[in-house]
Amino acid sequence: MNMAETLHFKEPMARHVSWRAGGPADRFFVAKSVEELSRFLASVPREEALLFVGLGSNLLVRDGGFRGTVILTHSAKKSARMDGGLVYAEAGVASPKVARFAATHHFVGAEFLAGIPGTVGGALAMNAGCYGGETWDIIRKVLTVDRSGAIHERAKPDYEIAYRHCRLHSAQEEWFVAAWFELANGDGEASRLRIKELLARRIATQPLTLPNAGSVFRNPPGDHAARLIEGCGLKGLARGGARVSEKHANFIVNPDGAASAADIEQLILQVKKTVLEKTGVDLVPEVRIVGEPA
Ligand SMILES: Cc1cc2nc3c(=O)[nH]c(=O)nc-3n(C[C@H](O)[C@H](O)[C@H](O)COP(=O)(O)OP(=O)(O)OC[C@H]3O[C@@H](n4cnc5c(N)ncnc54)[C@H](O)[C@@H]3O)c2cc1C
Repeated sequence: MNMAETLHFKEPMARHVSWRAGGPADRFFVAKSVEELSRFLASVPREEALLFVGLGSNLLVRDGGFRGTVILTHSAKKSARMDGGLVYAEAGVASPKVARFAATHHFVGAEFLAGIPGTVGGALAMNAGCYGGETWDIIRKVLTVDRSGAIHERAKPDYEIAYRHCRLHSAQEEWFVAAWFELANGDGEASRLRIKELLARRIATQPLTLPNAGSVFRNPPGDHAARLIEGCGLKGLARGGARVSEKHANFIVNPDGAASAADIEQLILQVKKTVLEKTGVDLVPEVRIVGEPA
């Protein structure tokens, strides 16, 4: 492995997160294959902090940066394939590719992934979902890697899975490197149509032309974070370069690409505080915020 090609230093994470804001990663490794990743991890000191990143569509790195090594899994070259009747995809494959691959091969049930602009690894870690579907509903098994670079095959019951939550029961430190999706045979054409409809719905309701990270807060039980935020009159509220979207109140946008991570984080805290004061509901962020302040 040529480390100079794949290991970078002081890499601006604003380039790798959909909010287009935030500080650098001390070290940044681009994982081209599972084998290369495994060899790299075996060489990393045990005390080094590690952060796996897919498409950074649910992530903010504070302006002072991340003291450790970021492992970037996403590659536009990676795609899904069939493996023994299951759809197999490495962690760095974009989730919408899995949805399209499944439809093309006449499998149904993965359509919802078409509108989630992250990777398979991020979808597993977040148990990403929408329109009634969740990632782990359609997973048979996964491949993981641990700090030493050893690869493990894990079955669904090895995990505690809930709304936007996934954790190994054994609490071992492992990351996803691949997944096998178990999908029912069905009408591929109907599946492609459903994908089109879902995407049209998103374009109509979400500020997709501006840098954002999807829903900022989890929906509280029986309610919608967007409804509460809008009800508190917070649409359009701005902090530095960050703004609560006028199109979807649970989105924070970075319209000019000028927001700092601190602008975004402060705005999140301000929304949370106002909603708590006015409605009594304590919203919980869905986005992951890591790293050091400036
Ligand atoms: C426009 C828009 C719409 C969205 N709509 C939805 C939606 O409908 N439903 C929904 O659930 N989410 C939605 N999201 C949020 C986001 O796309 C999902 O959470 C997605 O699954 C994150 O994938 P990612 O690869 O971008 O993860 P990242 O943002 O890169 O990482 C997110 C978290 O997962 C961890 N992670 C990433 N890869 C791995 C890995 N290989 N192993 C272990 N941990 C890993 C990271 O460390 C981090 O904690 C939306 C985001 C945007 C921008």
